[in-house]
Amino acid sequence: MKEYQNYIHGKWTNSKSRKTFDSLNPATEKSLGAFQLSTKEDVHEAIRAAEKAQPKWSGTPAPKRAEYLFEISRLLKKNKEKLAESMTEEMGKVLKETRGDVQEAIDVFEYMAGEGRRLFGHTTPSELRHKLAFTQRRPIGVVGVITPWNFPLAIPSWKIAPALVCGNAIVFKPSSDTPRTATQLVQIIEEAGIPEGVINMVTGGAQEVGKEIITHEKIRGISFTGSRDTGKWITQNAGIKKIGLELGGKNAIIVMEDADLDNAVEGIIWGAFGTTGQRCTACSRIIVHKNIAKALEEKLVHATKQLRLGNGLEKRTDVGPLINKAAQEKTFMYAQIGRREGRLVCGGKKAEMEGYFFEPTIFKNVKPNARIAQEEIFGPVLSMITVKDLNEAIRVCNGIEYGLSSSIYTQNIQRAMLAIEQIEAGITYVNSSTIGAEVHLPFGGIKQTGNGTREAGIEGIHEFTETKTVYIDYSGRLQKAQGID
Ligand code: NAP
Repeated sequence: MKEYQNYIHGKWTNSKSRKTFDSLNPATEKSLGAFQLSTKEDVHEAIRAAEKAQPKWSGTPAPKRAEYLFEISRLLKKNKEKLAESMTEEMGKVLKETRGDVQEAIDVFEYMAGEGRRLFGHTTPSELRHKLAFTQRRPIGVVGVITPWNFPLAIPSWKIAPALVCGNAIVFKPSSDTPRTATQLVQIIEEAGIPEGVINMVTGGAQEVGKEIITHEKIRGISFTGSRDTGKWITQNAGIKKIGLELGGKNAIIVMEDADLDNAVEGIIWGAFGTTGQRCTACSRIIVHKNIAKALEEKLVHATKQLRLGNGLEKRTDVGPLINKAAQEKTFMYAQIGRREGRLVCGGKKAEMEGYFFEPTIFKNVKPNARIAQEEIFGPVLSMITVKDLNEAIRVCNGIEYGLSSSIYTQNIQRAMLAIEQIEAGITYVNSSTIGAEVHLPFGGIKQTGNGTREAGIEGIHEFTETKTVYIDYSGRLQKAQGID
């Protein structure tokens, strides 16, 4: 079996632990390779490498740093099909989705390369004569990047691309479920010629590697995507650092009585069962007007029963496996809870086949405060909640702790605008599913989905920079602000 290594100071190296862990194909339960089960000492070495490289990297003009990003984007494009197939093997989602994951990485490197010629600060008048005032965006220094497995190329790229163009050096810990995809990304970054030490990757567990990155004082910024519980732990333990958190969701699609039902059904199926329900933006609640609840249910159940489970590499497959055994058990547990909280209309059990598969599941007659309507399941489980009007729909939509994505299907502009105004979420779609972010728009959520940072778009730059305010006094004498004589 192939053994993969950490990437520190421009070299592929073994962990000091001399131990490894396996990455499994969730469709076959077979190992894809052994990865370094790293230690705190490996993290320290990566931090030292990053600290050494960062001053020179931040001194390189941003448009020059951007040239590396253009090259990374080109190499990703060249290897797109290979990367997508390998990703499907490692985390299970179907090939058309892993192609989308690679495309997102290509797009974000290209977009952020463009930022190399912007990195805008702002200029503003001073209150005094002969004085210039403006701001600049400066790198943070050494940043820790910690990522989950559901977008194993796109999410690291959403962080690494802006971190690099802004002049930071990186210590990257990928999810232990997808270290192979992460290794392939770092290999491409190496091939693009990034100077040694600017990016370092350390694989291994949350306890040894993850926690050390979060708590180490030399790491000045953290960009984390993952679960709310981990996010909470990070807020309590990271110390004084710049922190970006992208956490969970419990996203709803509202379907009003005037909606185009066929369009809504397509959006719901894609949002609920795409990536086997394992997206932070996945739709796990349908809030439907009572007049059309029955019609929607029939169409949804019909469409859900057409979905074919299988290995994501096979063309006929619509829904791949869950990421691992624990995820399969967790989904099963929620399906059991759902049987007590609502009425099962399809699915509800593990599929009888090799791999971590679970049948796409729908519950109806679910109360808004039921556990399956409140907690993030991160599997193919959908709850239908019936409401009497738009006000109630929005109240139910907002009655959760998370605030990531949301959607309303309606032909009525007034209803659409009220939903946009009143839904508590970072993202609202009209007549489209809860998923489908584009890299030039900011992405992120409110409430317990995060701490206010946004990724992608121009706001993605803010997460990886500090603002420097500059005053230049060319009056030739001491001038005091606030009118002090
Ligand atoms: P997770 O358990 O929080 O793990 C995410 C990453 O953090 C992994 O690399 C994990 O390492 C590491 N980690 C776990 N505990 C840590 C700790 N105490 N200190 C430092 N690192 C730690 O989340 P997940 O199960 O991989 O991902 C699913 C979650 O991510 C869902 O809640 C989903 O909604 C969320 N998500 C959010 C977004 C968004 O943009 N808002 C996007 C995608 C996913 P190991 O793998 O080694 O355990």
